[in-house]
Amino acid sequence: MRPTYLTINTSLVRENLRKIKDSLPEWSTSTAVIKANGYGHGSVMMGRIAVEEGYESLAVAIPEESVPLRNAGIMVPIYLLGLTRPQSFELVADTNSIPAVCESTDLEALDKVAENHDMIIRVAVAVDTGMHRIGIKPEDAVEFIKRVESYENLEVDGFFSHMSNADAADQSHAHGQAQKFHKMVDEIRAFRPDADYRFSLANSAGLLSVKDSLFTDARPGIIQYGIMPSLDVPNRLGLKPVLSFHSEVVHVQHLEAGEGIGYGSTYVTPEPMTIATIPVGYADGYPRSLSNRGTVLIHGTRCPVVGRICMDQFMVAVPDTITVQPGDKVVLLGSQGHESISALEIAALASTIPYEIFCGFSERVPRQYI
Ligand SMILES: *Cc1c(COP(=O)(O)O)cnc(C)c1O
Repeated sequence: MRPTYLTINTSLVRENLRKIKDSLPEWSTSTAVIKANGYGHGSVMMGRIAVEEGYESLAVAIPEESVPLRNAGIMVPIYLLGLTRPQSFELVADTNSIPAVCESTDLEALDKVAENHDMIIRVAVAVDTGMHRIGIKPEDAVEFIKRVESYENLEVDGFFSHMSNADAADQSHAHGQAQKFHKMVDEIRAFRPDADYRFSLANSAGLLSVKDSLFTDARPGIIQYGIMPSLDVPNRLGLKPVLSFHSEVVHVQHLEAGEGIGYGSTYVTPEPMTIATIPVGYADGYPRSLSNRGTVLIHGTRCPVVGRICMDQFMVAVPDTITVQPGDKVVLLGSQGHESISALEIAALASTIPYEIFCGFSERVPRQYI
């Protein structure tokens, strides 16, 4: 195995999933959102654990993401959160996924595919309550049910909408979305009192901090991995980060003052220094924007990145307080000794959010499950 790898603590994933599920009322189901390879944590493993922990369904963005889950023998419903083009309807049927639909969906083509497969395709109606990404207008929901019902091989599974500001300190927009969704649910229930539709609005932030965003199903994503959606969302369930990023020193050199380091010599040693090389680069998902900004842990000590992050390697300055040799352990994200580096710290230095850091870890970095 490469000396560079991600470790995912599955007991902590389980603990987080349990705390999330236990926080929901008994009448609410939960859909574990494991798109983008489970936010980089590995969708098959994360999906398996979620199913074992009683999550009723899973969600991914595109039908291609259903394939490894089905191949792994995962049988629960899989929701597709993005819109699917007609070219991929076959894959929807093959993987028995539940596609998101709205007025831009070619329902006729979807019905044909369902007929050819001799199956009923269940659809999740996307509703736009204020994010303005995808979805029908809430006031068109009843009309849309009638449209879907006009196709023999399609069936409405339920309705979902996505929150755009649930992680903000000011919750007025989030409550506005919840109210719109609520009104729509009432109209649908008046129209079809006996239907057992799934109504899903809350994402991680909604689940943790917007009470009225919970309908019959919650869709937690990032909090499964112990990361809060933003600094404004308190970690009221005590969820714990599950992922750490490791490597080891491959080279150590002692340089005189005035030596430029890396591409462009953007760092010049101000004095004689010890420099260690780490075999990790932006091709692994360690952001290039951490050039001359990031830090890593060696022997529990923070060592600043010097020079530009290369595709496969980067250099750090070794403080005088420690001695470093090739083979010494490096932590890029996580804890070592008394020090730790959080996803939020890395994201802030890279001017992004933890979501993007996690999704950026590339396939060439092995995932180790402990
Ligand atoms: C990504 C996504 C989620 C999960 O979002 P988190 O902020 O990670 O909880 C839920 N619903 C939809 C539609 C999404 O796209």
